[in-house]
Amino acid sequence: MLEPLVDADGAPFWAYAAQGELRVQTCADCGEPRFPPRPCCPRCQSFANDWRPVSGQGRIWSYVVPHPPLLPDYAEQAPYNVILVELTDAPGIRLVGNLVTEAGAPLGSFDPDRVRIGAKVQFVFDHATGLPQWVLERT
Ligand SMILES: [Zn+2]
Repeated sequence: MLEPLVDADGAPFWAYAAQGELRVQTCADCGEPRFPPRPCCPRCQSFANDWRPVSGQGRIWSYVVPHPPLLPDYAEQAPYNVILVELTDAPGIRLVGNLVTEAGAPLGSFDPDRVRIGAKVQFVFDHATGLPQWVLERT
């Protein structure tokens, strides 16, 4: 399995995610959320930032279903989905992830044919792999 590549700017994202919490880097001066994490605000050029907690709710903005040829670890799990989620609390912030049936479920657990753009999803955390995942929001 590929491990996340954690750099200094993104380290807080992974530290909060490991606690099951989704936070978005936000400018401490103008309040603009930004992703991926980076040193400088694109709106006001401030270097001050906070990590704002968000609900973890979002909607599927787009998705793909990768097919072989894939890296060997992923080829074994295909077909699976890769979704792009727009956060409800921070419109414009979109995170890449996988829609699964429940936290900790394998990549291919959610039938790719059932993925729909616009579906409401919720952030969960797979403690075994250390990776964020998404599940359908329970209504
Ligand atoms: Zn700013």
